[in-house]
Amino acid sequence: MRVTTAFSRLLRLTGVWVKKVRFEHDRVVVFVALRRTRLVCPLCEYSTSARRDTRSVDTVWRHLDLGTWRLEIHARRRRLRCPEHGVRAEGVPFARPGCEFTRDFECLVAWLATRTDKSTVKRLVRIDWDTVGRIIQRVCADELDGDRLDGLFDIGIDEVSWRKQHRYLTLVVDHHRRRVVWGTEGAGAAGADRFFAALDRDLASARSQPQSPDIQPRPPAPPDSPREREREDAVALIGERAAQLRAISLDMGPGYAKSARERAPQAIICIDPYHVVQLANKALDEVRRDYWNQLRQIGDQDAAKRFKDARWVLLKRPENLTDKQAATYHELEQAGGDAWRAYTLKEALRAIFAGGLSVNDVSVLIDRFTSRAARSRLAPFVRFGQTIRKHRDGILAAIRLGINQGRTEALNNKVRLITRRAYGFHSADAALALVMLTCGPITLQPPHELHTPRRRQP
Ligand SMILES: [Zn+2]
Repeated sequence: MRVTTAFSRLLRLTGVWVKKVRFEHDRVVVFVALRRTRLVCPLCEYSTSARRDTRSVDTVWRHLDLGTWRLEIHARRRRLRCPEHGVRAEGVPFARPGCEFTRDFECLVAWLATRTDKSTVKRLVRIDWDTVGRIIQRVCADELDGDRLDGLFDIGIDEVSWRKQHRYLTLVVDHHRRRVVWGTEGAGAAGADRFFAALDRDLASARSQPQSPDIQPRPPAPPDSPREREREDAVALIGERAAQLRAISLDMGPGYAKSARERAPQAIICIDPYHVVQLANKALDEVRRDYWNQLRQIGDQDAAKRFKDARWVLLKRPENLTDKQAATYHELEQAGGDAWRAYTLKEALRAIFAGGLSVNDVSVLIDRFTSRAARSRLAPFVRFGQTIRKHRDGILAAIRLGINQGRTEALNNKVRLITRRAYGFHSADAALALVMLTCGPITLQPPHELHTPRRRQP
């Protein structure tokens, strides 16, 4: 077999044949000719057989490594004139327009980025983290399903920090499919407003176009039932997809709630139990820190050190403790004190949202919890109890609609783990792409799974 034939088979690039292969000291360079006769615009479907000219230099793409060798594809591209995009170098089927990597290479990088840590990806594929960010943005834009905002009924809107210094993403979760379906940079009412604008894009564009009063479109025939009429009014006012939202779960801040009440007034606003439990963990941590400072001030350094280590013991679920942590746990239990009382309060709260309880049970238990917290003489828990009391209706609505902690916790934790990995990115879009590729409606596969192997006839 000739070397060029062997490489044609090895590379698995569509639409090319290999002309020449050159081994350099650190790379293999493969020169290919583009096989298709019609030239295709890289930005649209337009194709033509009329060639304007040929570029004077080769275009270079990096492809999947060959063993320990870097592999480069070189090709001379022709240029065409697209009626819409002007003069362009022709598009190639094996790479996205304007980028220096083949689709297979980008596919591998995206798959790795969703599964392993930053330094592993950088070292294995030998590119920097911001290049990874640009690659996953392109893959995400290609793979995202345009219909993912259809059929939303119960959603959650939440903010997550993607970088230090309070840089946030607003994410929208579909509670039924348990996926992140939409996201944007920023937090609060503005972020949620952008979501509602994207949800009913037609409505947003109709609103922005001033209508002349003379040529109002004639309203459709009035519907029969009052209920149907109500629905149609809502659709006209807030949009088709916003009008079918049944519930929106939120954190306890005012920003998202304001937007949700305005843009989907029929939806029931729930408080995501995940955030309630998270707030209890925060209160517990405050109590622990106060106690630790007291120990340090009275000069008991040993106890202070042990107590600092106890942080994770207190925040973890008892059933998830390691043997060593379990020993610390029993010490804390024996010692009693503020931290232990705070811990039992937090665990009592967590149990309420663990699932399996009726709305009535939960409402009784929440009231019992808030009065216990009020009497606890632990300032963070007194405050926490007041917050819970204020949001009682929203918390109970979540339980009534089946939005319990078990349902939201796994996805929330996954999102937070992923955004930690995104910390090194310099752009919010890259961080968002990583979240969408990992927790969104996209299934990534490594490149070899995308190429169905062709079995040769014996
Ligand atoms: Zn074009």
